[in-house]
Amino acid sequence: MRTYGNWIDNRWAAPSEGAFIDSIDPTTGEVWAQIAGSTAVDVDSAVRAARTAFTTGPWASMRAAERGKLLCRLGDRLAERADDLAALETRDNGKRTVDILPGLQTWLADSFWYYGGLADKVAGDVLPVDVPGIFNYTRREPFGVVGCITAWNSPLLIAIWKIAPALAAGNTVVVKPSEHASVSTLALAEVFADLLPPGVLNVVTGFGDRCGEPLVGHEDVRMVSFTGSVPGGRKVAEVASRTVTPTVMELGGKSPQIVFADVDLDDAAHGVAMGLFPPAGQSCVAGSRLIVHRSIQDELVERIATVAASARLGAPTDPATQIGPLANEPHFRRVLESIARAEREGARRVLGGSPVTPEGTCGWFVEPTIFVDVDSASDLFREEVFGPVLAVVPFDDEDEAIALANDTSYGLAAGIWTDDQLKAMRVADAIEAGTVYVNNYFTSATQSPVGGYKQSGYGRENGTAALDAFLQIKSVWLNTAPGIANPFPQE
Ligand code: NAD
Repeated sequence: MRTYGNWIDNRWAAPSEGAFIDSIDPTTGEVWAQIAGSTAVDVDSAVRAARTAFTTGPWASMRAAERGKLLCRLGDRLAERADDLAALETRDNGKRTVDILPGLQTWLADSFWYYGGLADKVAGDVLPVDVPGIFNYTRREPFGVVGCITAWNSPLLIAIWKIAPALAAGNTVVVKPSEHASVSTLALAEVFADLLPPGVLNVVTGFGDRCGEPLVGHEDVRMVSFTGSVPGGRKVAEVASRTVTPTVMELGGKSPQIVFADVDLDDAAHGVAMGLFPPAGQSCVAGSRLIVHRSIQDELVERIATVAASARLGAPTDPATQIGPLANEPHFRRVLESIARAEREGARRVLGGSPVTPEGTCGWFVEPTIFVDVDSASDLFREEVFGPVLAVVPFDDEDEAIALANDTSYGLAAGIWTDDQLKAMRVADAIEAGTVYVNNYFTSATQSPVGGYKQSGYGRENGTAALDAFLQIKSVWLNTAPGIANPFPQE
């Protein structure tokens, strides 16, 4: 069993208090690694290393074009080492290897290639200010040290979506991954060690309160990008407000999938099931609220139930597995509690709802679950479960579908299933969410921004918007007129 320290200045550093946290394999329930239980002292070491790298040394003096080429080499390296990294992440959080590996080899490597290409294209403006004798221009500059805090469901994806644009902008980075799944992020930093100068990318591990808060509150951390739950985001925003540190917030969701009566029912059943169940609902954009036209509700729910019930649950390393485990025991218990609450609230379960123990596993699996007769005021309809649980509510007309979809404090994503493209565009316009999928789900590409409306957060990842988030703007005023007038002229 390997014990991981923090990754600071391109070396392993033991945690200052000597404390370690068990990393548990959700397939077997066994401790398979240990990570550092860090405190403010370790955070300070990482931030100091990042600050030094930002202000002196090769990173500080590197030309933007060189930085861009270096990022492209990180993308190549990521693709080369994808197998090892995917295996570690599967072990750490139970995500199926087949879901991680292709991403690391292609579109996550793309993040480094894409932002590598943009690194030397960060331009300011010359502005036509209405001030005689003055020339004004803007510069877009890195913040310095940025803190990146990530969730356990897709640690590498979330970390890379932050690290690539942050580095392209010229910042240095300290990442604090989730205490439930830190190993793949630590391994990523180690894999980059011979390419990045010391201090440019650091990883400290530990709990949110003891390690995350000191990072957010550190005076030398000039910007924080956070991915996690709404309560976690609120706390981070509160701590960041003490030092007036800007934040980007990528938070939870309770995303609707609206199905109109004109669809092919099998296509819609496949689409709705695909938009929730394969990651066992453990995706921030998971389409966990089915808002379906009343005339097709029974037939569609039956077909979704047939598709979902046929899924093979099992070890995430097995290529035949179609749904893996829930990522950790506390989360597994929370999902079961949400199901029990839904029943107390009067929803009718038509599929699943029970824990299962596929052979060779410890049993943190929950069957794909579907509830009908769901009260739109219930927790099941309004609160994120982050598990394989679909809540179904019928609608009678388009306005009602939109109202139901928007009747939530979240605004991360939405799916629309219809054969009528004009209706799809109309509804997409009316939905309060940062991402809308029409007749597809979970699609993403480096070029297109991702982020939330309402309490799902603010700021964007991917696309040029993510690069902008890691840059601050300076306005420079040059006097082109000769002489400076005395401000206190005497008669
Ligand atoms: P969480 O909020 O419990 O934890 C997220 C991270 O924040 C962890 O690293 C944790 O240690 C840290 N943290 C917790 N409290 C903190 C504090 N007081 N100060 C600083 N750091 C603190 O979330 P989670 O359970 O790890 O992740 C699941 C949540 O993440 C779900 O709500 C999911 O929807 C969301 N998520 C959002 C996106 C997105 O892009 N919008 C992507 C993935 C996951």
